[in-house]
Amino acid sequence: MKQTEILAVGAGPAGLTAGIYAARSGHRALVLEKSFAGGQMALTNEVENYPGFSEPVSGMLLAQTMEQQAIRFGCEVLNAEATGITAGPDGFEVSTNAGPIAAATVIVCTGVKPRLLGVPGEKELSGRGVSYCAVCDGPLFKEGEVAVIGGGDSALDEALYLSNIAARVHVVHRRDEFRGCKLAQERLRERANVSYHLSCVVDSINGTERVESLTIENLKDGSTFILPVRGAFIYVGWLPNTGWCSNLLALDDVRNIKTDERLRTNVPGVFAAGDVRNTLLRQIATAVGDGALAAISAHDFLIGKR
Ligand code: NAP
Repeated sequence: MKQTEILAVGAGPAGLTAGIYAARSGHRALVLEKSFAGGQMALTNEVENYPGFSEPVSGMLLAQTMEQQAIRFGCEVLNAEATGITAGPDGFEVSTNAGPIAAATVIVCTGVKPRLLGVPGEKELSGRGVSYCAVCDGPLFKEGEVAVIGGGDSALDEALYLSNIAARVHVVHRRDEFRGCKLAQERLRERANVSYHLSCVVDSINGTERVESLTIENLKDGSTFILPVRGAFIYVGWLPNTGWCSNLLALDDVRNIKTDERLRTNVPGVFAAGDVRNTLLRQIATAVGDGALAAISAHDFLIGKR
């Protein structure tokens, strides 16, 4: 069975940073990567609030660079998806689709997945106009009309990105005020091809083969109307990827992993870092800080300091 001292599960900024710090601490370090390095960061067109870059940097480039940096220090990055975890007398066994891995310590960095809107048509038309990734699917809607649902930073950032591609972007948000930052709101308001449908919710996503329209309900007067769009980009928050480890780890009421100030979980030897834990801020910068702290906490655990 493959063995390691520090296993970071997930290759987003938290996992890759944990890999860098673990390897530089002299430990055998392994980072599991489900599909590609970078997680949500890799799907971000331009990152402009991660320190060290005076100009916006592509999330994919940042991800690849972090991965190369981890590898340079001797960290192994393995393409595998964790499916379960058990604790034993000498550490942990993480089951993956590439076989089991024995690890003395584990850092859970599995991030988040998109929260579904939960309306008729969403699941049926997923991948056929319904999308959770503007960078992946936006180019398919060149000169078409699309909707972005949500009012947080993700929705605003992705609406801005889509406004460079689509003929028109309709932002549908359930309140009159946005949750996303003022700068993103101002930038979006400068775009002539962005329309707003505020205090509005999507009742259904309509279409036979592909998305053809949305049924929108105005919450103020109860009226409904049909919004003809070819794409529906849903950004209504995220859910932590904790199903594979929930048998072992204590979760909070929204299924984030509970951690203390050293990013220890309820199980000695298991740590959590990044968006998957009960954190106040979900940013690349905070995920990177988490990854560093979790790796040092794992190091302390291994040398008996706990
Ligand atoms: P978020 O901040 O949780 O925002 C989710 C949005 O979806 C909210 O506007 C919410 O409306 C709306 N929403 C939730 N459930 C809904 C439903 N059932 N129907 C309709 N609307 C619904 O999520 P996020 O925008 O993905 O951001 C997550 C975190 O990442 C935040 O901390 C954010 O600052 C950070 N982030 C930062 C950046 C950046 O720095 N550039 C980029 C992306 C994300 P209400 O407002 O009414 O609750």
